[in-house]
Amino acid sequence: MTLKSKNICMSSYPKGMPTADNFTMTTTDVPPAADGEITVKNHWMSVDPYMRGRMSGVKTYIDPFQIGQPMEGGAVGEIIHSGDSNYKVGEFVMTMLGWREVFTANVDELKKTMLQKVDPNLLPAQAYLGVGGMPGLTAYAGLYKVADLQPGETVLVSGAAGAVGSTVCQLAKADGAKVVGLAGSDEKCKWLESHGCDVAINYKTCGNITAALQKALKTVGSRGFDVYFENVGGAMLEGALNTMNMFGRIAACGMISQYNNAKPVPGPDNLVMIVGKSLKIQGFIVSNYSKYALEYFAKLGPLMASGKLVQQDTVEHGIENAGTAFLRLFSGDKQGKMLVKLS
Ligand code: NDP
Repeated sequence: MTLKSKNICMSSYPKGMPTADNFTMTTTDVPPAADGEITVKNHWMSVDPYMRGRMSGVKTYIDPFQIGQPMEGGAVGEIIHSGDSNYKVGEFVMTMLGWREVFTANVDELKKTMLQKVDPNLLPAQAYLGVGGMPGLTAYAGLYKVADLQPGETVLVSGAAGAVGSTVCQLAKADGAKVVGLAGSDEKCKWLESHGCDVAINYKTCGNITAALQKALKTVGSRGFDVYFENVGGAMLEGALNTMNMFGRIAACGMISQYNNAKPVPGPDNLVMIVGKSLKIQGFIVSNYSKYALEYFAKLGPLMASGKLVQQDTVEHGIENAGTAFLRLFSGDKQGKMLVKLS
């Protein structure tokens, strides 16, 4: 029996901040799986800041979304028809075919982007899009493989209450680091101070960020930051450079404050600190660190079981609200991992 799927497509590429007008909903027929195919009913889909980079029409490290086509992104769903004996009806899989309710696709084609069986009895299905998935591995790779966190160090995290940042804070704290987080509301800071941060600073109300970071350093008893996990850029990078220790390391994961700039904005005016403090800055893309996934899961399991690492979710319901969920990444009107529940 042919099914129907509602899908979200790009109707136009945004200039500056995206709006609901950049998205449109379509309904398509989905035939049941033929030989070599599976039909998947998505239960959860992820919205992530990197998707903004796919909304420019320009190829970066990843292809742009195509106008008029359903967008793509991480999703977890249940197999409801199968033409491949390795994939059974009732099993759950993670794919990159989010932004749609149901799809039928060739197994070999899916494997080119992602086709991974997941066990919803091991972790809640949505955790595979957060702490047990791409954002979690990003946190792990940045903290340990890029910034090379050492015992007893002091860590600064921007975007600290987000999917990646909150995982970084909790991982670092579990390893005995002193952790300072920057986030955009008192409520987020309160949560962070009971989930990984020794001090969390509301960067919207703290006034001068460098002064606030210096005060936080006094509170935790450190002279400066050894590691900065960069998610935001701009004023937060400037504050971090001012307060890093000699030979500090910066894992440049993202700079979300820049993603919707219609025009380039001037960078921090203190980049010369990189020289005097002998800092190392390294950008990274998580897909180049997938070989560390098993190592990360081995660390994650006991931390989750002991409650030292938790995933906080904000959920929009229904595919028609996927665009709204995406926009909430940039307004900051959410805590932890932003998700869309589809069924
Ligand atoms: P989040 O879940 O943290 O959502 C985004 C958060 O960023 C918002 O909640 C908001 O929090 C903050 N924010 C949004 N706009 C601004 C702004 N203009 N200025 C300051 N803060 C802002 O996203 P993720 O945790 O998924 O991603 C965090 C970063 O990591 C992003 O930069 C993303 O691009 C990057 N990333 C990089 C990867 C890689 O491979 N390098 C992989 C995955 C993510 P608040 O209210 O606190 O301001």
